[in-house]
Amino acid sequence: MIAMDHLLKATAEGVRIFAAVTTELVGEAARRHDCYPTASAALGRTLTGALLFAANLKNEEAVTIKIAGDGPLGRIVADAVPEGYARGFVDNPHVDIPPTASGKIDVAGGVGRNGLVSVTRFTGLEHDVSGSCELISGEIAEDLTNYLFVSEQTPSSVGLGVLVDTDFSIRAAGGFLVQPLPDCSDAVLDRLEQNLRGMRSVTEMIDGGLAARGMIETIFDGLEINFLSETALQFRCQCSRERVASTLSSLTAKDRQSLLDDGKAEVVCQFCGEKYQFSRAELEEIF
Ligand code: ZN
Repeated sequence: MIAMDHLLKATAEGVRIFAAVTTELVGEAARRHDCYPTASAALGRTLTGALLFAANLKNEEAVTIKIAGDGPLGRIVADAVPEGYARGFVDNPHVDIPPTASGKIDVAGGVGRNGLVSVTRFTGLEHDVSGSCELISGEIAEDLTNYLFVSEQTPSSVGLGVLVDTDFSIRAAGGFLVQPLPDCSDAVLDRLEQNLRGMRSVTEMIDGGLAARGMIETIFDGLEINFLSETALQFRCQCSRERVASTLSSLTAKDRQSLLDDGKAEVVCQFCGEKYQFSRAELEEIF
């Protein structure tokens, strides 16, 4: 049985971990944006990364991750909130390039190896916390690990994976974020490194039936685990007909007239692909 999407938090002997299963959520993102496999994998990894980054935010806070490389996919952007909702898009969803020599989806080839990873945490305070650094691999998980180390001085290990089936549906997706806390002993660090090296990939674990709890038990094998809260995850966008109408009402007089001349308007939400249609009468009312 495939578990519903969820994120589980745990600690063990001075290390903390967030692990997530995002198969349904990534599947919905891929369907909404009509993604080909390379795009699905890149967007799915970024969405899962954003949910993991959002996991230690407070309520009402949010995080945006932007991967902007020089590959054919263009930008990949994902927003997430600690309540477990994420949304995102990739500039060019109809990108599917040949697999790597080992038969894996070539995410780095789609993303490109030159460019930036940017992260913004919306804290509700006066200044949002924003940082960026160069991409180092284009595989996204390594780039996020490097970002946390370089920009936020937080040593961590991020693992992300998306397995796309032959019919382009998402067969498994998820990830984890492990961070040693300052009081972590060298013995625990050694054990953790050994576990991370020896384990199967994220998609192999999830496709093999493991939920977030099983991933944590694998990564923390041999350590005393303290399981914390679990959050259900869901693809969800903040767009609405009211918000789109409000954007239309702020158009310039010239743009408004041009829509009225067309007799209708269709607005597509960049983040979720939802289409909003307005008739001439509705446009007149909004204006
Ligand atoms: Zn939307």
